Amino acid sequence: MRALWAKMTKCAAAIAAMSLLATAVPQQAEAQELAKTLFGSHKLPAATQPQSIGFYSKGCFSGGVAIATDGPTWQAMRLSRNRRWGHPAMITLVEKLSRDAVQDGWPGLLLGDISQPRGGPMLTGHASHQIGLDADIWFTPMPDKRLTPQERENMSAVSLIDPKTRRVVEKRWTPAHARLLKRAASYPEVERILVHPGIKKKLCDTVTGDRAWLRKVRPFWGHDYHFHVRIGCQPGSPDCKRQEAVPAGEGCDKSLAWWFTEEPWRPNPNPDAPKARDVMTMSSLPKACRAVLEAPDPVSVASVTYPSGAAAITRADPIAAIAASGGLPAAASAFAPTPEFGAPLPFSPPAN
Ligand SMILES: [Zn+2]
Repeated sequence: MRALWAKMTKCAAAIAAMSLLATAVPQQAEAQELAKTLFGSHKLPAATQPQSIGFYSKGCFSGGVAIATDGPTWQAMRLSRNRRWGHPAMITLVEKLSRDAVQDGWPGLLLGDISQPRGGPMLTGHASHQIGLDADIWFTPMPDKRLTPQERENMSAVSLIDPKTRRVVEKRWTPAHARLLKRAASYPEVERILVHPGIKKKLCDTVTGDRAWLRKVRPFWGHDYHFHVRIGCQPGSPDCKRQEAVPAGEGCDKSLAWWFTEEPWRPNPNPDAPKARDVMTMSSLPKACRAVLEAPDPVSVASVTYPSGAAAITRADPIAAIAASGGLPAAASAFAPTPEFGAPLPFSPPAN
């Protein structure tokens, strides 16, 4: 069981321990400053080419774009956190998922945290979400009205899980939830989707026909009111550290049964130990993350918001518009052509 536990928590505990052990003596006082403070203070992304650096739980990214707070098929939640940022491939994927989900009969997405503008560790919350390739999406369907900013702060998400049984609450679970997860898993760039073990079990017990997509849906702590979509390292990011491939098979086996034993749920024997996120300094992050912190801001939030929050910027030629507005040279724009992405450029409008 020890080996299994270590495997299951690879993305959280193992990485946390690694960074705690990596206590290289910093050369400068500033290297001691907490990375979460430095990254948490940036309101805008690094206006350079899109690039993820490091690992999901230990890294940063440049060339980030934000998803608009509102679109026809989504609404972003918890706006005060300023975590609507990601690698352009992540942001375009979220937008696409929102459209495809509507086609599947889901009313639209409520978006949770993606990343900080330049990624890095966060002041609160997640261990991962650091390189712009993770996004949380609520299991609560989008309501048919526009939520006010206040509602987006305060509205509580509804858990799909009965905490006593760790199984799905039947009256809250719908076939549409399964369709939404299947759709998210259908994209080749999506490598993992994290859900509560009770949700994975529900899928294992009920999905008929094509079940190959279950492989990408992995059980994990939390994730009872939202699911977590993780895409792989994107072209143009040589310093992005790939995660281990998901194990073969549907994952409806012993590895899932383990989650319904007591072992994963034992109280933390050392609850006051600091989390990796809370002690990480710049010296424990990849060196290139210093340059990300120092890179210039884009001219405005609107100039780096997808699909577009910017009336001033023409969709026909956003790069020229940014340059004309006194902004960045085209070469430094997050919208510089990146054909190798395989993702639409940020200014192509939504199809519906
Ligand atoms: Zn997440």
